[in-house]
Amino acid sequence: MTVALFTLGGTISMAGRAAGSVGVVARLTGRDLTAAVPGLADLGEEIEIHDVEAMPSSSLTFAQVLEVVDAASRAVAAGARGVVVSQGTDSLEETAYLADLVWPHPEPFVVTGAMRNPTLAGPDGPANLLAAARVGRRDLGGLVVLDDEIHAARWVRKQHSTSTSTFGSRDVGALGQVIEGRVRVLVRPDRPAPLPWPDAGRLAARRVALHVVSLEDDGAQLDGLADTHDGLVVAGFGVGHVPATMAPRLGALAERIPVVLTSRTGGGSVLSHTYGAVGSEVDLLSRGLVNGGLLDPYKARVLLRLLVAAGADRAAIAEAFATRG
Ligand code: ASP
Repeated sequence: MTVALFTLGGTISMAGRAAGSVGVVARLTGRDLTAAVPGLADLGEEIEIHDVEAMPSSSLTFAQVLEVVDAASRAVAAGARGVVVSQGTDSLEETAYLADLVWPHPEPFVVTGAMRNPTLAGPDGPANLLAAARVGRRDLGGLVVLDDEIHAARWVRKQHSTSTSTFGSRDVGALGQVIEGRVRVLVRPDRPAPLPWPDAGRLAARRVALHVVSLEDDGAQLDGLADTHDGLVVAGFGVGHVPATMAPRLGALAERIPVVLTSRTGGGSVLSHTYGAVGSEVDLLSRGLVNGGLLDPYKARVLLRLLVAAGADRAAIAEAFATRG
């Protein structure tokens, strides 16, 4: 059996130094990475290596991720029993969700990375790569595997800036674990049908902003946003609240572009009919904002960008968030 490995860079591959710099940069290839994994050969799988990029994940783009998904799709159609993508952890929660939204196959699409680079004591990359390669369970969609935990791309968040156990799924927990090399899937989430493949040109032309609400925020920096952006995700307080002074601004924006309401808390859902003050969820939804449900702001932005690129109207966007949010 074959596992297709796509490498995009990130800490897992950072063992080089740029001239005149003290910091590490991505340098290792897929061959280097796999050679450093004790036990990988014992899996009896052929690892088909595709070195795509060697960059920090903070600079990845939607287009680059979709190119990898497309190539991974071809690898699966050619017989690979699964896909592993190695990349930086910084944007991993977004790239894995983007892939999950469009991944059309039952074969697993697993994203992994590392928190300690290969020049440090105890680098976690080799163990993460081995665990990711072991995951062959079908019909789970996009997965994130680090620290011997298997997370759904839909729920997972990077929760700590340096810890090797940084990835967690607060609302549901891990779907499974890798225990003594055995993959144990404990929870199988419902998986909505994949979205249609995005048109590259339309996707590149669509911009979606994210605004995190904070104390005494009147939203003045949102003025003019509808002239430059095609959608907005608002990360509101708590269950989806903003200062009263910001509410009319968001309502005016929602008349021109889709505005999705999410929570900045990092867990739980936006509500729909509990609080009635100006700037509360009831007020904002009545002004035309779309309820983002349980989707965190970063994932909501990924979904909204695909939807506006597909030309979805407000009703279709509300329906998509009702299904996936
Ligand atoms: N800055 C790195 C990146 O995302 C961090 C990591 O890989 O963990 O590329």
